[in-house]
Parts: sequence; structure tokens; C-alpha cells
Amino acid sequence: TKYVYSFTEGNKDMKDLLGGKGANLAEMTNLGLPVPPGFTITTDACRSYLNLGATPESLDVEVTAQLRAVEQQMGKTLGAAEDPLLVSVRSGAKFSMPGMMETVLNIGLNDESVEGLAAKSGNDRFAWDSYRRLIQMFGKTVLDIDGEHFSKPIEELQHTKGYAGDLDMTTEDLKELVAQFKDVVLRDTGKPFPQDPREQMDLAIEAVFRSWNTDRAAIYRRRERIPNDIGTAVNICTMVFGNMGDKSGTGVCFTRDPSTGHSGVYGDYLVNAQGEDVVAGIRNTLSLADLEKLDKKCYDELVGIMHKLETHYRDLCDIEFTIEEGKLWMLQTRVGKRTAGAAFRVAAQLVDERLITQDEAVTRVTGDQLTALLFPQFDKDADKTIISRGMAASPGAAVGEIVLNNEQAIERTNAGASVVLVRRETNPDDLAGMVAATGVLTARGGKTSHAAVVARGMGRCCVVGAEDLVVDEAAGTVDVKSTGKQFKRGDIIAIDGTTGEIFEGNVPVVDSPVMTYISHGLEAGLAASPDDATKELVEAVDRILTRADSKRHLLVRANADNPEDARRAREFGAQGIGLCRTEHMFLGDRRQLIENVILADTEDERQEAFDALTPLQKGDFEGIFEAMDGRPVTVRLIDPPLHEFLPDLTEMSIKLALKTERGEEITAHEKKVMAAVRANHEQNPMLGLRGVRLGLKIPGLFSLQIRAIAEAYVACKQKGLDPQPEIMVPLIGSVRELQIVRDEATEIFKEVSEASGVEVDLPVGNMIELPRAAMTAEDIAKESDFFSFGTNDLTQTTWGFSRDDVEASFFNEYFDAGVFGISPFETIDIHGVGALVKEGVARGRSAKPELHCGVCGEHGGDPTSIHFFDSVGLDYVSCSPFRVPIARLEAGRAAI
Ligand code: ADP
Ligand code: MG
Ligand code: MG
Repeated sequence: TKYVYSFTEGNKDMKDLLGGKGANLAEMTNLGLPVPPGFTITTDACRSYLNLGATPESLDVEVTAQLRAVEQQMGKTLGAAEDPLLVSVRSGAKFSMPGMMETVLNIGLNDESVEGLAAKSGNDRFAWDSYRRLIQMFGKTVLDIDGEHFSKPIEELQHTKGYAGDLDMTTEDLKELVAQFKDVVLRDTGKPFPQDPREQMDLAIEAVFRSWNTDRAAIYRRRERIPNDIGTAVNICTMVFGNMGDKSGTGVCFTRDPSTGHSGVYGDYLVNAQGEDVVAGIRNTLSLADLEKLDKKCYDELVGIMHKLETHYRDLCDIEFTIEEGKLWMLQTRVGKRTAGAAFRVAAQLVDERLITQDEAVTRVTGDQLTALLFPQFDKDADKTIISRGMAASPGAAVGEIVLNNEQAIERTNAGASVVLVRRETNPDDLAGMVAATGVLTARGGKTSHAAVVARGMGRCCVVGAEDLVVDEAAGTVDVKSTGKQFKRGDIIAIDGTTGEIFEGNVPVVDSPVMTYISHGLEAGLAASPDDATKELVEAVDRILTRADSKRHLLVRANADNPEDARRAREFGAQGIGLCRTEHMFLGDRRQLIENVILADTEDERQEAFDALTPLQKGDFEGIFEAMDGRPVTVRLIDPPLHEFLPDLTEMSIKLALKTERGEEITAHEKKVMAAVRANHEQNPMLGLRGVRLGLKIPGLFSLQIRAIAEAYVACKQKGLDPQPEIMVPLIGSVRELQIVRDEATEIFKEVSEASGVEVDLPVGNMIELPRAAMTAEDIAKESDFFSFGTNDLTQTTWGFSRDDVEASFFNEYFDAGVFGISPFETIDIHGVGALVKEGVARGRSAKPELHCGVCGEHGGDPTSIHFFDSVGLDYVSCSPFRVPIARLEAGRAAI
């Protein structure tokens, strides 16, 4: 295996092997852009290191060869005493994980080469600044020393000398810091800071490999659904220096505004700085317009490169660059993260600019991004007291208690509060708090700061750089400089990630214009848009969703069991109801009626109970058929175990025991209920008397429901409507079960037809939610008009674990152990449960080629699962009403 690739050997499509950063560095190198020479160690090497605990043997040799090549090209030797070559050792996985893993800069400096660098550059301060940065970064990331042991001495020094910031530190100060830092290393690790440049590099490479497994990286991966086992690549890149003085600097930019999507040059630049300084918010940054004034030549070159990259990648790119003494260097690019709104706008703009096709535009946005646009926003007309404002970094409206660190964020969220995490600036250690919070607010940093980048990535509402705020974590206070107002931990504030405004107290929220568009159409959406940018967004969503609708093979239905939900689903574009549960119709006041069914002693008593229920059920169905007029409504016959309609065994026992103790009489009815509770108690109710088994065990129960459906159908017909009910039998395992129900149904249809004079012949189909049903689907299909895959139960019955219990009980251990990366109840387990779906469809259609097949249950609204269902040729997915637009979009993406 080849473990090391020069930047000249790779390209942008080799992300699996070279990671995103490495693949794109190679792409830029081959485009002829100014990238400092370097090479990439593959993810293969990382996986091997993580599995075996040591780097593969041949890695060393390959690294030497590539390093020699770079040394030759640069005419310098790594860490040489005179004019040393310095390199950075940078992490870079297939998927971008900003700030989650490690990078070490200035590798190759030691007590001798620092003098060489100083002499060669004629800049002592720069050389010693680079050396202190090396020991600091190396100490923290490679040697695992507490970062405070380095940041404290810097703070103290600046404090005692009365400095305003890092730029005031003199060469002598920096030399002093280097001495102190070397002591810290010796004290904390028992060994001196390694002076051998190659040893520094090798240790840094291993540290980057190890950083794949830090807690924060693991949390981030779980959130972003990035697989745990792919590992990171390592990039070794010749150092260029933004910290050489006033003609140098480092920056980050986007080819379009990542929060609005508007084209133009957008970015932050910091003079005389290195690496993370820009995003760490140590000083306030300049804009690219300022850079134009400072260094027109570099600015023009940068803008030219931005256009070139955007045309090449045909998408919004983000870029890291450094200017060393008036020479521009490109250090990174990638297709940039963006807000949900920007994703739609950029896609539509790129179509208008004829850079991408309409179909590509559909693939450029995701269901999750659409979800984010449907969230409510602050009511524009509400009374609001503005506290201050910052920069809009990630859109949304967040209202919550002020918390100032991870612990508080997690504690209050667990207690049910919604919280806004307020910090001076964030760093990767704050991730857990950002995950817990509904919103993030920082006092420092720009749109490219850590907080902004991470919040946008996770769709969290975020405002940054609210410089009017002074955050004191220890005191638990947030002071507003301009007004002198003080807020405390626990006070409610509201932040608007779209405008950057910060409000006092509980601000009311309203529907988003995109939501108005989804429910009431384009005109209404445009009318509800407060400004041109929003109008542009609504139009972009409309264009893309319309295209997706025209392309998708899957129909999208909704799960709904009352007229209200049915209407909402229809507004959202549902093409029918794929799952109408009937058990909810037995709750509330009607629980008594179903209890009467269970308690009936004689046929007559039971029939009486059924007769009381029939008209109620008929009324329910009429309402739903009316709301979904002209579209199919799949009604599932009663499914859950009967005990769900009876009191709980333990509670009932205690209640009766207490009565006995108090000497009160237990009534005959209570005795009867208790007996029924006992009789219906099951050890394993999910595998017990439920679904079709109820229909066979309690004669008349299914008939009641089928009759109610048939009569509701007739009633709607007589009103001139076009009802399209389908009867669905749950938990079928054998064709015989279905046959019995079908015979019953045929009989009832005939009776209802004769009584009403309206012809009744409704489709009768079944759910496939047991492995046996999937494996005998060719038999079942003969008696069935349609299949609906109940993937929740199919997951339970295939894995053999109960959904109601396992998620809380051992799933965390399963995630950690890598049994699965995501709950199989959230995204379908393609290899196991998915295989049964595929098999069931194939077998069913082998007997009945036109068999209509769909899926109902949570997976029907999950993007990854939708793509799978499209690939196995299902006809429709059914999901909760709110997810219908998402399913429409994802079904379109799946078809392209
Ligand atoms: P991340 O993935 O967290 O952005 P990077 O590997 O990109 O980490 O590096 C962190 C910072 O150091 C970035 O600002 C990057 O531009 C800078 N950097 C990395 N390598 C070099 C180099 N060879 N010369 C100068 N700056 C560098
Ligand atoms: Mg970083
Ligand atoms: Mg970077």
C-alpha cells in the first residue's frame, strides 16, 4: 500500500484516501495556485495506526522520500540550523470537522534553528514568536499538557507589563516565554521539549492520528452522522508566515456570503498573525475591503483565485490564505458550509449563472436544510427591548436562560429549560454546551469564528462579536458596556441569528415565510416575506422543490389520524394518508366503550358494545376521508395490545389492596376489571396479542371497524365526494391470517352495498412488519391489494429488541462500541432490515407485478432511509405531516 501522496499526485475526488483538506490542497496545486509544497499521509495509515497502535512500517520510509523532495524543491532542510525548512502537520478527514482535531505549526524549530530563522529573516521577534507558538501547540496537542499552563504565563506577562495584546510583546518577552514553556514541558512530562526536527514531526503525525478519537471529535461525528471508523489523513505542508510583520497576515474568506448566499467577496483578515489567530478572536479582524487598501496586489490575486475556485468547484468555496511579506499563499479550500437559506439561494443563483443545472440544484440542498427554514422566527411586530447587537452568524430565533459554560448548559437543559450559551468566544471545548443550547452568543469573533462555523454546521441559532457585552463566567454575569445594564445567569434573553439582534426577555415567535409558502403557496409566501432577501429565498425554495416534485418516483403520503392533521398534511403536499391509526380513536371518553368490549361476558353484551362504537368510528372516518378527498387513505385496523386500554396491573393491584386494608368493599365491576387485567397481562406485549391476532381472537372487532370504514365511504359518496379508503391489516405473519380478514371484509362490503345501493369494493392490504411476512411475501401478495412496510416493528422484530426499552438502556454502549453509528429506529438498517424490505417487495411483486408498496413509520421521513426506499422501488413513503416537504425534496434528490 502507498501511504503517502505528494500534493502533486492527488485530486479533489480522492477525499476517502487523502481527506478533504489533502484532496483539495492537491487540486489547488494542480490548478497552478500558489500552495506551499507538501504531502499527505493517507487515512489508510491512520486506520492502521488506530487499529494496531503503531504506524505501518513502510510509512517512515515513504515520509522520508516525500520530505526529501520538498526539501529539494525549497532548497532547505527540515529544522536545519541555518535557514531551516519548517512545516505544519495538519489533520484533515474526509468530512470537514472544523476545529475538532489537531494541527501543529512551525515544526522544525529548536534552540538552534530559531537563531537561523531569525538571521535569515532578519526578524528576531518573528522567529521567537514562531518558536513559542510551536512549544505551546506541540505541548498542548502532542504532549497533552493543559493549555492553561501556556496561556497563563502569556496573560501574566501582558498584565504585569501593561500590554494591550499579543502584538506588544517584544523579542525579549518571547524568549522569556520560550524558556518558561520549555520548563513547563520538562515539569509536566519529565522530558525536555524534543529538539530533533524529525522526531517533532513524527510525534505530531501520531498526535493527529490520535486526535481522531478525542471526545469532542467523537461527539461531533455522532451529531453530524460521520462514521467513526474512517480516520483522518495528515497533511505536511511547508510553512509560510503571516506573522513576519505588517506586510504579512492571515485570513479566511468565502466566495459568497455564507449566511445570505449573496455573491461577492467576503472574509476576515488579521495583520501579523498566524494560523488560528483569525478564528480564535484574539484581536478584531479586518475585512477584505481593508485588505484591498493595505495590499492591492495580493487582494486582486486573491479575488482572481476566488473566482477561479468557484468556477472550478461550481459552488461556494471557503478559503484559508496567508500573506507572507506581500506574497499570497493558499492554505486550504473546500466547498463551504453554509446556512440553510444560503444553500437554497446559492443553488438557485448558480442555476441563473448557468454554472449548474436545475437537477444539480436539487442535489445541492438537503431535507435537513429545508427543515431549518421551517422553524419559527421572532414576531416582527412584537414589543421588543433590544439589549445590544452582534453579527448574524447562523439564522433562527432562540429564547432561553443565560448560561455561561458547558456544565450549566447541560444541567439546565436536562432540567427542561431552554438555554442560550453566552461566552466571550468559543473554542472546541465548548461543543457540548453548544449542542445543548438553543442558541449561542459570543462577545468576540467574526462570521468565521469557531462559534459561527460550528453553529452554522449544526443549524444552531448564533450571534457573534457582540462587543458591547462583557462576559464574566466566574461571576455569572453579562454586562452591557454602553448601557451599564447587567444580566445574570438564569435571566431570559432572545437572540436573532438572522439579524444579530439581542433582546431582553421572552420574545414571541411566528411562522417563517418559507413555512407560509409551503402551506399556502408561492404568492402567500412572498406576501409574508418582510424583505427582498426573504422573497429571494422563498422563490429559490419554490423552484427547487417544484423541480424535486417533478423528478421524484416516490409518492409522499402522511401519517394522520384526524381531520386536522389530514388537512395540514395536504397543505404540505401529502398525496394521501399512508397510515391512519385507529387506536387513538378509542382513547379519552371512548376508553370505557372499548373496556366494555373487553369485559363482555356474552356475545350479546359484546355486540352491544360494538354497536355503540360503530357510529363513532364512522364519524371519525368520514371526517378524514373528507379532508383527504380524492386521495387514498390507508386505515390500519386496531393494532396495540388490549392491555393498553385497561388499567395498569400494578396500579390496579395497589388500588384494590389499599381498599381492602381500609376495609372498603371491592365492587363486582372492579373484580371483573382486575380479572381482565390479569388475563390480558403479557410478559412480552409487543410480541403478544396484538394486530391481526386481536381480529382473530375477538370476533367482531375488525368487523366493527371495517363496517365503519365502508359506511363512511358510502356516506361520502352520497355527498358527492371521492373517498379512497384502503383497509390495512397489521402484523400479518401468514397468508391465512389475511385470508380470514379479507373474507370477513368481503362479506361486510356486500352487506353495506346492498343496504345502501352504493357499490363497495375497497382494497384490503397488509403491513409487512415481521420477517416471516417478508420471506413469504409471494404467498401473502396473492391475498393482498397492497403492502405497507412497517419498518418500526420490522426493526424491532428483526433485531429482536424492543424500541420502547432499548434506546435508553444500552444504545449508548452500542454507539461507543461501533455496533451502529445511528439508531436503526432513526435511519433504516439497510443491510439487515433493509434487506427484508427489498426481499419483501421482490417476492410480493413476483406474484403480483403491479403490487403497490409503501412504507409507513418514522423511517418514511428520514432522508437516508428515503434514498434507500427509492432504490428498492417502493411506490410511496408516509411520514408525519411536518416532514412531508422534507420527504418530497429528498425523494426528488434520490431520483436524480
Ligand atoms: P483546521 O482544519 O482546524 O482549519 P488547519 O490544518 O487548516 O486546521 O490549520 C490551522 C491553521 O493553521 C489554519 O489557519 C491554517 O491556515 C494554518 N496553517 C496550516 N498550515 C500552515 C502552513 N503551512 N503555513 C501557514 N499557516 C498554516
Ligand atoms: Mg484548527
Ligand atoms: Mg483550516
